[in-house]
Amino acid sequence: MITVNNLSVYYKQKNSTVQALKDVCFTVPRGSTCAIIGPSGCGKSTLLSVLSGLHHDYSGEVLVDGAKVHQVRRQTALILQGHGLLPWKTVWDNAVLGLQIRGVPKRVMTEKVSVILKDLGLWEMKDRYPAQLSGGQRQRIGIARALALDPDLLLMDEPFSALDALTREALQKQLLSIWLNNKITFVLVTHSIEEAIFLGQRIIIFAGHPGQVIEIVDNPRAGD
Ligand code: ADP
Ligand code: ADP
Repeated sequence: MITVNNLSVYYKQKNSTVQALKDVCFTVPRGSTCAIIGPSGCGKSTLLSVLSGLHHDYSGEVLVDGAKVHQVRRQTALILQGHGLLPWKTVWDNAVLGLQIRGVPKRVMTEKVSVILKDLGLWEMKDRYPAQLSGGQRQRIGIARALALDPDLLLMDEPFSALDALTREALQKQLLSIWLNNKITFVLVTHSIEEAIFLGQRIIIFAGHPGQVIEIVDNPRAGD
């Protein structure tokens, strides 16, 4: 369960301060999916950096399963726009990167990543380089790397925005079943209302500068 209570975030600069989020309150049940939607500049990316433990400078309460976010950083995976692939590494080497950084034994790593690459349809291209793949395939490597970490909480910032409609739809369906089967709590930032309705069991609508929660909608038909 994610609990956010009266979250406010300020970016302090030399001569001015920008408030990015104001008095944000919401919860996300454990193992469910949540879509954050709102216009550009309303603090969505800021919210993901707070949830992932990257941005510490906030006021209010932010808890994941009752713990402070920095205490559950290892259980949290964040996928950014552009997916952060290393162009000089193969699909395989990009996918194992997160586990390598955590010092996971090679045999465990190999087993886990093999299963995930097969699940995501990337097995045949494991020896290729990112530049030799389509946008959808590249996005899936980023997802594979994150899933390999066995996260309890997966955060994604606009993961499908660069994809064509058919690729996007196929990937959304595949991911929804992965999240629901693995009971991963999933928070997605999106510009697309269709995507929010398809993927978000809870939809949180943000607006304004600083960003505030305008409305929270429960959407039991997510995935239909
Ligand atoms: P969104 O993801 O909804 O587009 P952001 O979280 O990126 O919104 O930004 C929210 C507000 O905070 C914007 O006004 C933006 O200019 C400001 N902001 C974001 N990051 C920084 C930063 N590192 N320093 C100063 N201001 C920032
Ligand atoms: P090294 O550690 O020497 O760089 P690896 O054994 O990690 O080499 O990987 C070398 C290549 O072998 C990788 O690019 C990958 O495609 C392939 N590979 C590694 N492990 C497996 C595996 N379990 N199943 C299939 N291919 C693998």
